[in-house]
Amino acid sequence: MAEVAAPPYRVIPIIPALKVGATEGLKPFVASDKINEAIGFPGQLVEDWHDRAIAKMGELLSKYRSLKVYMDACVHCGACSDKCHYFIGTQDPKNMPVARQDLMRSVYRRYFTLPGKLFPKLVGARDLTREVLDEWYSYFHQCSECRRCSVFCPYGIDTAEVTMAAREILDSVGYGQKYSNEIIGKVHRIGNNLGLPGPALLDTLEGLEEDVKDATGIDVRFPIDVKGAEVLLITPSADFFAEPHIDSLVGYAKVFHATGTSWTLSSMASEAGNFGMFIGNYEQLRKIALRIREVALELGVKRIVVGECGHAWRVAYSFWNTLTGVGDGADATDRFAQMLQKQLDHRYKQPMHICEFTWDLIERGALSFNKEANDKHIITFHDSCNVARGSRMGDFAGGQFEIPRNIIKAVANNFVEMSPQTTREQTFCCGGGGGLLTDDLIDLRVKGALPRMEVLQQVVDEHGVNFMATICAICKAQFTKIMPIYGFDRRMVGGVHQLVSNAIILGDK
Ligand code: SF4
Ligand code: SF4
Repeated sequence: MAEVAAPPYRVIPIIPALKVGATEGLKPFVASDKINEAIGFPGQLVEDWHDRAIAKMGELLSKYRSLKVYMDACVHCGACSDKCHYFIGTQDPKNMPVARQDLMRSVYRRYFTLPGKLFPKLVGARDLTREVLDEWYSYFHQCSECRRCSVFCPYGIDTAEVTMAAREILDSVGYGQKYSNEIIGKVHRIGNNLGLPGPALLDTLEGLEEDVKDATGIDVRFPIDVKGAEVLLITPSADFFAEPHIDSLVGYAKVFHATGTSWTLSSMASEAGNFGMFIGNYEQLRKIALRIREVALELGVKRIVVGECGHAWRVAYSFWNTLTGVGDGADATDRFAQMLQKQLDHRYKQPMHICEFTWDLIERGALSFNKEANDKHIITFHDSCNVARGSRMGDFAGGQFEIPRNIIKAVANNFVEMSPQTTREQTFCCGGGGGLLTDDLIDLRVKGALPRMEVLQQVVDEHGVNFMATICAICKAQFTKIMPIYGFDRRMVGGVHQLVSNAIILGDK
């Protein structure tokens, strides 16, 4: 990997100077024939790509009414323009959310509006040329679909949805992204994003049981494929082997152990992540989600709990109900969704986030902690985009912000907030979300992390913060990679359940 340097910090508040063309042509690797065809897309750019792309755009405009509203409603007020971490980090004006939308809006106007058909130049309409298509590929892969810009738009225009539509069109003409499409293929073939086969998973879990026994003297189990278990835990595959993710998996297991909950992982659905959302493809989103239903039915579980993964929780919370029947609103004509509805125990939320699970137990006094075990940490919390702006948690508004913080305060003595303009609903993306966590985009990832690194530096300087907790596998992977470039120790990042794991007092259940 080429040497990557962190950009210098700026004085806050920041109005980035423009650097026209700064990231022009920056793009991730294009997927090969084999990768694309394995998931049902054309292998490479088809000859009639122009007509097919316009037809696909028409299909999406009629299918997703929101997309048509977003194409028509923007008044170019500029409120979103300086809200994107990639614009702040790269200073390329095409990374302003409004400019990113305009890449598609200009084509929409040309082919789908009368003024654009008659007087294209007057209304900023453009033909879809090969140059425009390449520009789409580049700049729609410089958006992490984080939705921060939509918080500031008076019309609620969601650039993430525009990005998803653009990627869907690109895939439909054989111009897909290697990283995301390869991962989707692995999920279908092997069961998880990392391509970790069942026996390796089993080995890892056995090794973890031994490690926890050595550290605590207690037999904490990491069960897999157990029929009749009460809880099915669906967690990102990074939890099985990546650092610091694995420490949160240990935390979940200790919570289940401490409360005598019967639980299981699944070798077939060993992945909570769903990259179908990142590429905006409904069929892939559904196919990936259906693995979870299949496993839940096969194992006969009563509850489905989701581990620390931002976009996985968004998919689970917002889409699993209609996709799979987990949660309310299952399709009445879908026999398997109805079977699952009958099987699950509706005294509990379905699905439930692991933080809700743990916080509920803490509130009921079912868990005990030695908070001093976390005294070496001065902790702050990074809200992950898809949890903060794409879902909820618990039974109250803002539960997705409060519940993880409540857990941290219950298990540790030292907690500090970062600047309120960069947390909760206004949180900045880590810089690696939305299918961009790939080394071919490392320069973009480093620059996109700049706003978060700047405010982290503030709490480090003012309060001595030395641990940033987060509940997203992508945030953890991105931060551990880029924080050393900014001069931080990579071990400063970890999960909320890593802190739970440190402090929990285990019985002998
Ligand atoms: S969704 Fe996020 S990454 Fe995309 S344009 Fe908006 S702020 Fe930038
Ligand atoms: S804030 Fe909304 S209306 Fe204003 S420029 Fe951005 S997308 Fe358009």
